[in-house]
Amino acid sequence: MMNKIANFIDGNAVVSRASEWIDVTNPATNDLLGMVPMTPTDEIQGAIEQALSAQMHWKEVAISERARLMLRYQHLLKERHDEIATLLSKETGKTLADAKGDVWRGIEVVEQAANVASNMMGETVENVATDIDSYSLIQPLGVCCGITPFNFPAMIPLWMFPIAIAAGNAFILKPSEQVPLTAVRLAELFHEAGAPPSLLQVVHGGKVQVDFLLSHQAIQAVSFVGSVPTAQYIYQTATANHKRVQAFAGAKNHMVVMPDANKAQVINNLVGSSVGAAGQRCMAISVAVFVGSAKEWIVELAAEMAKIKPGLWDDPEVAYGPLISQQAKLRVVNLIESGKKQGAYCLLDGSDCMVEGAPQGNWLGPTLFSGVNTDMEIYQQEIFGPVLVCIEVGSLDDAIALVNANPYGNGTSIFTASGAAARKYQHQILVGQVGINVPIPVPLPFFSFTGWRGSFYGDLHAYGKQAVRFYTETKTVTARWFDDDIPDGPNLTIQLR
Ligand code: NAD
Repeated sequence: MMNKIANFIDGNAVVSRASEWIDVTNPATNDLLGMVPMTPTDEIQGAIEQALSAQMHWKEVAISERARLMLRYQHLLKERHDEIATLLSKETGKTLADAKGDVWRGIEVVEQAANVASNMMGETVENVATDIDSYSLIQPLGVCCGITPFNFPAMIPLWMFPIAIAAGNAFILKPSEQVPLTAVRLAELFHEAGAPPSLLQVVHGGKVQVDFLLSHQAIQAVSFVGSVPTAQYIYQTATANHKRVQAFAGAKNHMVVMPDANKAQVINNLVGSSVGAAGQRCMAISVAVFVGSAKEWIVELAAEMAKIKPGLWDDPEVAYGPLISQQAKLRVVNLIESGKKQGAYCLLDGSDCMVEGAPQGNWLGPTLFSGVNTDMEIYQQEIFGPVLVCIEVGSLDDAIALVNANPYGNGTSIFTASGAAARKYQHQILVGQVGINVPIPVPLPFFSFTGWRGSFYGDLHAYGKQAVRFYTETKTVTARWFDDDIPDGPNLTIQLR
């Protein structure tokens, strides 16, 4: 009997009564790991009702107690770090080191969630008129939901529910159907850390289940991370249903290389940030923009990139794992072919990559193109594989114009020894996260994850202060107390004097 992956409802792992189940495979071997349910909507309805009643109690729990739950959860996640990372490696194929990083970035958000009180402080103005004060209260929304992608099964759910719940909400998580196992384990551990049942529930599924959440009148806010078409759909549908929405989408991240940069750092960082995690990172560098004579380094870049090998998750010698599915691999191979047909120079082609002992895996070797222009599909599409395209420009101004003309705005970096060039770049670039001699500038959780333009639909971003604002509402009170109403009494009179 094949392993049926459970939902996590009302504090328990519950096997769905679903009639439709989807195979979940290990991308390194394509062995079956289990089957994920397309949860019937009446089961999701039950979860939402449980969440509503749990939230009514939870919002009255003292904020320091809510914060303490996060401290206990953080401790437990650290204790089980290896166990979670191993599970995550199996369902994504990520190397163990990468999987541990995925979990760790999530743990850091849980730490930040324990500081929720300082981000929930309202504002006060005394004497807005005679004897009248105004002050604001920050209150939770109710039941919120999250819809997450395959590529960070721990970090991205942990961007969402710890902050939402610390702020006093209940949360329903619909993880990617390609990686459902880590999400359930995160929820079990949250429960083990002492979370009341139904504050965090996990329901599996695809579009039907997401649509049910997006249109449900009890869901107040929707956090989404995934591809561009889905982000646009989620944003349009959920806002049409009057929900608050933050939708993080795809990307095309450029690294600008100035000729005065440290060459060894450039090459080392370009290799790691483009092919690391098989390029399946929304902040991966997928375009290198060489300014002036920096283009002479492309030959050395190709030589270094050729040394990088993908392989099995527990092999410490390998740099990255497989692509998530055979379909994802085929899509990238077709894009590589389009690059060749459209006239780019393919300096390294990873299409025929094989890994010993795992012939069925969705492997792709590092792939490098030079002579790329902005009309080519390999420039226009988010490839989401271990593929780097190189573009040559004449000046920093040309590089800035190129990046700003690209519709995405998730991350970018500049490598240079010039403070003036770096400052001009950080000031003029229309991208929400900028690295200066840092290839993948993902902010730590006391800041927020601030993608711009085509990489983000919404207003308030993930984690940090913005996330607390996203999961809460502001109430402004105007209060007047009349002196005449102060009761007479000896003690009180003495105090007033
Ligand atoms: P995806 O859009 O295919 O799926 C994401 C989620 O949406 C899944 O839970 C899926 O079940 C659901 N979904 C898919 N199609 C749907 C539909 N038609 N209606 C309703 N729900 C639907 O994305 P993915 O392939 O899992 O993830 C990779 C993408 O995520 C890449 O584009 C990557 O750049 C992006 N991403 C962005 C960020 C960011 O912060 N900007 C972070 C990580 C990943």
